[in-house]
Amino acid sequence: MKIGLFFGSFNPVHVGHLIIANYMATQTDLDRVWMVVSPQNPLKKKASLAGDYDRLNLVRRALEDNNKVEASDIEFGLPKPSYTIDTLTYLKEKYPKYEFALIMGGDNIATLHKWKNYEQILENYHIYVYQRPEYELGELATHPHVHVYEAPLMQISATYIRKCLREGKSIKYLVPDIVMEEIMASHLYQ
Ligand code: ATP
Repeated sequence: MKIGLFFGSFNPVHVGHLIIANYMATQTDLDRVWMVVSPQNPLKKKASLAGDYDRLNLVRRALEDNNKVEASDIEFGLPKPSYTIDTLTYLKEKYPKYEFALIMGGDNIATLHKWKNYEQILENYHIYVYQRPEYELGELATHPHVHVYEAPLMQISATYIRKCLREGKSIKYLVPDIVMEEIMASHLYQ
């Protein structure tokens, strides 16, 4: 089974993330996608970052009716900050039968050469990249393990959603209804 890992703080998860995750799970040779929620870095506490389990819960709720994409808390138990190569190594050991791949935007592949052990990542894993029109992919995009896709894109960010919430504006359609209801009920980000 081939699993694509889509990492993010998902603070909160929004339809821009979900469209990418579902596209990769249904329109590529990946069998499943795990949305890996990044934990708070205790050394870099950010007031605007909701708690790890609140963000995980919202991703879970968003994916309740999706049998190909799921939320993962795998990094919660790993040393922080977690580097992708360490998470990949851990996953390989824990799930020896699965093949893991990375999902990232064109913005990330352009700076992959700055990541810890990026050569090892490229050599041992496949990377599924979705184009972002405002970013050049850079040289690494031509690597045989890099696969570039044109997925549908939504021009939104979690920052924008948090801003709307702070200002008492509607976030309807920017996140799934269930996510909006949970955020409203728990007063997250307000
Ligand atoms: P913030 O505004 O708080 O920085 P974000 O919306 O960019 O958050 P992240 O949790 O940082 O969300 O995103 C996880 C991954 O999804 C990142 O690699 C990011 O580049 C990508 N991403 C974020 N928003 C979109 C979007 N609208 N379309 C496609 N990819 C996105």
